Amino acid sequence: MLNQYVVYHYICPKKHETMLNVILFGPPGCGKGTQSEKLIGHYGLVHISTGDLLRKEIALCTPLGLEAKSLMDKGHLVPDEIVIGMISGILTSNSKAKGFLFDGFPRTIPQAESLDKLLDLNRTEIDIVLSIQVNEEELIKRMIKRAETSGRSDDANPEVQKKRQEVYKRETLPVANHYKAKEKLELVDGEGSIEEISARLIKVIDRVVLTAQ
Ligand code: AMP
Repeated sequence: MLNQYVVYHYICPKKHETMLNVILFGPPGCGKGTQSEKLIGHYGLVHISTGDLLRKEIALCTPLGLEAKSLMDKGHLVPDEIVIGMISGILTSNSKAKGFLFDGFPRTIPQAESLDKLLDLNRTEIDIVLSIQVNEEELIKRMIKRAETSGRSDDANPEVQKKRQEVYKRETLPVANHYKAKEKLELVDGEGSIEEISARLIKVIDRVVLTAQ
């Protein structure tokens, strides 16, 4: 697929010439994880899910994992310095990547500011923030369904689910405005089949990438 993406990155000189950096943004249960799988396959990006990284630490019973677990089980966020440290390490160890798909990060304004700085140090930047729009009723349905199979303690408890939605509104929603001010935010309808939603996301990425030429 010698596509628009390759053409764009060939003629866009201010950026690291091969990179495409995408943030998948939205509330818990909106489908970021599922859609990440589709997009990393389509664009050949490195998937960075801070939730997955933290769950790995928990499974390995590391001190970081133990600290994170008690917060995650209550629906709270893990401290910024912990997640920023993890991201920094991954960016450094994947310096030759075609680009990154950030899933569940950044979740606070300090995380967004740190990400912008880290990418800038690597002569790159966020190209697009895709905000997946799902109504609250549908979100609750998806969370209940996911709780049946995910094995995640933070999915199983309705009180914790509620807390996560509150934390999202208070701490994470402002991140959308951070990228809106930089004209990087795109809203995408997150209802319908998995395939319909990924087709919409891909269409928006391709359009934004082409417009930037
Ligand atoms: P997720 O798998 O993205 O739903 O994340 C599960 C939990 O991990 C969240 O409820 C937070 O407790 C924690 N977590 C994941 N990503 C972050 C982040 N970027 N900042 C702080 N906490 C996070």
